[in-house]
Amino acid sequence: MTGRRKPDWLKMRPPSGQRFTEIKETLRDRNLHTVCEEANCPNLGDCWSGRDGPGTATFMLMGDRCSRGCNFCDVQTGGMEPLDPDEPANVASAVAEIGLDYVVLTSVDRDDLADGGAAHFARTIREIKERDAGILVEVLIPDFGGDPEAVREIIDAEPDVIAHNVETVERLQWPVRDRRANYEQSLSVLEQVERESEIYTKTSLMLGLGEYDHEIYRTLADLREVDVDVVTLGQYLQPSRSHLDVFEYVHPDAFDTWRRVAEEELGFRYCASGPMVRSSYKAGELFVERVLR
Ligand code: SF4
Ligand code: SF4
Repeated sequence: MTGRRKPDWLKMRPPSGQRFTEIKETLRDRNLHTVCEEANCPNLGDCWSGRDGPGTATFMLMGDRCSRGCNFCDVQTGGMEPLDPDEPANVASAVAEIGLDYVVLTSVDRDDLADGGAAHFARTIREIKERDAGILVEVLIPDFGGDPEAVREIIDAEPDVIAHNVETVERLQWPVRDRRANYEQSLSVLEQVERESEIYTKTSLMLGLGEYDHEIYRTLADLREVDVDVVTLGQYLQPSRSHLDVFEYVHPDAFDTWRRVAEEELGFRYCASGPMVRSSYKAGELFVERVLR
């Protein structure tokens, strides 16, 4: 289906309930940010409650201001603050208090820091694992400006999954992403993780930005060429009128077709694909079911 009016399949259930309120308080007490809230993610109710599997949340490290300005993203650009040295321990204690089984850590881009924030990421992974080695940690990392030392620092902290998003097909990198990001650089981050470790790799693409089918296929094939294990495909939704327009609302059947292509033809361990799918959508559930078993 092609069209610009938001279709019924994108209607979300608003989160509510006591657990939702408790989690929000735990986060506020520690001055922590989650992508779940900041991006007004449609899956929040399901992920935080752990209704369909392990409880999951996506923490956004290093503040809520980014050094970059991607045209699909609602995070504010500029005005970054110094890192909070207590954040790694605060995230670890919040994870324990909330009782999450699978944690996703991501961040804004911090091109203003010498290591792009890699050491801060690594500390947070270690703090969580030191409290409870059984908690699975996925990190969704920036490209660190193509710095392999920074990527190495993340690898050395031994998370369970390292994700880095290519976001869109090669032709649309600009204007979708900030000019400092690019396709080759993102592929090389994923390739380095595969080459230097046994850690699972994952990436994500938004559909509905004007990409052609053959470009989606090429992107998936390029990702498999560097051995990426998991891919997620979701609908791009325009955060505000000053962001890129939605080119089309891709029909759920088309998402399903891409899932089959990715899994059955190209050999990804799994592909989560659907209009509401986000990079961390059912991350814990799918990782346990489709990768660890
Ligand atoms: Fe949070 Fe990701 Fe779930 Fe959305 S899909 S609520 S960002 S964990
Ligand atoms: Fe948003 Fe990430 Fe782009 Fe920053 S680098 S604007 S957080 S997508």
